[in-house]
Amino acid sequence: MNSDEFRKAAHSAIDESMFVPALLQLKPSSLPVAVIDYYDTIQDRRVVSNVEPGYLRKLLPSGPPEDGEQWADIQKDIEAKIMPGLTHWQSPNFMAFFPSNATYPSMLGELYSAAFTAPAFNWLCSPAITELETVVLDWLARILHLPDCFLSEGQGGGVIQGSASEAIATVMVAARERYLTAACENLEGKEKEDKWNQIMGRLVALGSEQSHSSTAKAALIAGARYRSIPCSLEDDLALIGDQFQATLEQCASEGLEPFYLTTTLGTTATCAIDRFDEIKAVKQNNQSFHNIWIHVDAAYAGAALVCEEYAHLAKDFAVFDSFDMNMHKWLLTNFDASCLFVRTRKDLTSALSITPSYLRNPFSDNGLVTDYRDWQIPLGRRFRALKIWFVLRTYGINGLKAHIRKHIMLGEKFAGWVRQREDLFRILTPPAFALTVFTLALPTHEGSQLPNGDTEIKVNEGLGTSNILPKTSTDQIERANALTKSVYESINAAGEIFLTSSVVKGVYAIRVVSANERTDEEHLRKAFDILIKTTKEVLRKQ
Ligand code: PLP
Repeated sequence: MNSDEFRKAAHSAIDESMFVPALLQLKPSSLPVAVIDYYDTIQDRRVVSNVEPGYLRKLLPSGPPEDGEQWADIQKDIEAKIMPGLTHWQSPNFMAFFPSNATYPSMLGELYSAAFTAPAFNWLCSPAITELETVVLDWLARILHLPDCFLSEGQGGGVIQGSASEAIATVMVAARERYLTAACENLEGKEKEDKWNQIMGRLVALGSEQSHSSTAKAALIAGARYRSIPCSLEDDLALIGDQFQATLEQCASEGLEPFYLTTTLGTTATCAIDRFDEIKAVKQNNQSFHNIWIHVDAAYAGAALVCEEYAHLAKDFAVFDSFDMNMHKWLLTNFDASCLFVRTRKDLTSALSITPSYLRNPFSDNGLVTDYRDWQIPLGRRFRALKIWFVLRTYGINGLKAHIRKHIMLGEKFAGWVRQREDLFRILTPPAFALTVFTLALPTHEGSQLPNGDTEIKVNEGLGTSNILPKTSTDQIERANALTKSVYESINAAGEIFLTSSVVKGVYAIRVVSANERTDEEHLRKAFDILIKTTKEVLRKQ
């Protein structure tokens, strides 16, 4: 493809009106998809793909063509072959998981990044790539109201990782190395090696039972044990200090050495916020556990820290070691852009720096520059700072705040509608960060009795969760679970909207997240109407 051909192909990929005339003779369904037209009509598409597994192999030839094809022929296959197998994450009717917002300025960043392709593992590979990353992550740390210790001007700094899971695996390796290095201080040779390996076998990483599975996976990668700390519905599923303390003591009594904890701002299932002040106090009051690395996983909800009304959530972070937030979830930046901040960058570089002769250069050797390869697991890296820079400049701080506040307001509206239908639904945990988690209510005549010996789940009235399964027996929970699951499955099978479910403390719940950039009140209203209609149908069939 030469420059002229690229010009035409790129225009046609972005804007349908630029299609070559011959293609415009085609029927609309066989027209190739251009990005702008895709976005302009996305809400009319079935949101979740319903192809059968293996559908694509049947549509593709058994190997690549002997001779190259024309772009127009390649592009046609986007609509015909790829589109049926896409779930449309950018659709306003996508209310599942957490969002993965994509925006035009961010796409432009991706385009330039692809054009400049330079796997900038060290500063010299492209000084602009490294330096822009340092600058925009300092900007970001400030607008997220993070403590100054996470800025590159001090001992800390930020680095862009591919995902929150990668960030956790990376800091867990750094935590392990820091812990073992301190434990083997002043030892040399075989003595050091033996002690290192003895302790290695006793290391345990901790997370709450609501932590994302990436912490357990990181422990696998880091070769450490993993223990999860219990949480309760009474505490809104937050990790609390007493449970953290109890787990530390339990580990110590078993001869294990806790070296790492993930604490979460916005858990995946319910957007719970751990009790950071209590976790901080446990760390500060226990000299024997002072070297434990505490990581704040704020993959989704960390975006809300741009708004002053959420800034207080970051007030205790200065005693924690690292913080990670995915701009590629809620902050208008295309996947991938996971922003990891550490308090002491030397912890990362001491653990991950290996410098073979072919990577040496005077700038790095003299410590004058940052080499981000020492802050991550891979060597090469993409120019991801560009899209973050474009997003921050296009929206401005006020634009980002407005974006977050709009979704929080929509989430509160949705939760309000759910609350008004106590005859049909129960809110399970406090709605937060545009997420509402709820179950079906059993018909009232069933919920009113509490048979002898049945478990009662406590009602948490003080926090607006006035109807957490009041006086519910195990048998009733099972029946409510079956009904909720049935409603959830019917809705997703119909494909007009896409939701996810989760099982919280044995309770099957539906999650609705209203944080997609294109989601407005009308889309949420439609989702709510679908919920009511489907629920009534399911109940009628009982
Ligand atoms: N942490 C939390 C709280 C999450 O919700 C998720 C995913 O949704 C992750 C970590 C993992 O994110 P990633 O896909 O960036 O690894």
